Amino acid sequence: MDQIKIGKFIAKSRKSRNLTQKQLAETLSISDKTISKWECGKGLPEVSLMLPLCAALDITVNDLLSGEKVSLTDYQRKAEGNMMNLMKENEENRKIFILSIMVGVITIIAFCALIVIASFIDLPTIVRIILILVSVGVAVAGIAAASMLDIKSGYFECPHCKELFVPSMDEYVKGYHTFTRRRLTCPKCGKTGMCKHRIVR
Ligand SMILES: [Zn+2]
Repeated sequence: MDQIKIGKFIAKSRKSRNLTQKQLAETLSISDKTISKWECGKGLPEVSLMLPLCAALDITVNDLLSGEKVSLTDYQRKAEGNMMNLMKENEENRKIFILSIMVGVITIIAFCALIVIASFIDLPTIVRIILILVSVGVAVAGIAAASMLDIKSGYFECPHCKELFVPSMDEYVKGYHTFTRRRLTCPKCGKTGMCKHRIVR
């Protein structure tokens, strides 16, 4: 999807209705920075905002995603293309996210199994030590793989300016986190906060 074209179209539609970014933002209960971000082509509106945005601009979702007023003859073809693009992106992110959870679970099971074997089965000390070292290696590799996949699935949302971004591996690993949020510094506004992990736009 052409974000620049969509952004210009949002700006054009907004201006033709004599709305400022602030007025449009108020209608949608979001910040005017978010509107500015869309209009600059840095990100698409999330799915839950598309209908209210289109209602405010008096356009269809199909127009929005095409970045232009779609003529009736083109309507169905464009609608199908737009729908497939959105679904494809969201589906890929979801697959990667599920994969990262699976890698995490398998890592935990492998780690526990190795530790149980090393602790409870009668083995020479050297074998126990090797098993423990292997289990630590498995855990480190598994967590690294799961994190890498988790970063790739979707975006993190800045709680201050709502910027969606993908953090660097280094920042990601250092960030204190819960299951759905992670403490990161926003590349746009520079503030640090608990950023929500979004799989779907
Ligand atoms: Zn920010």
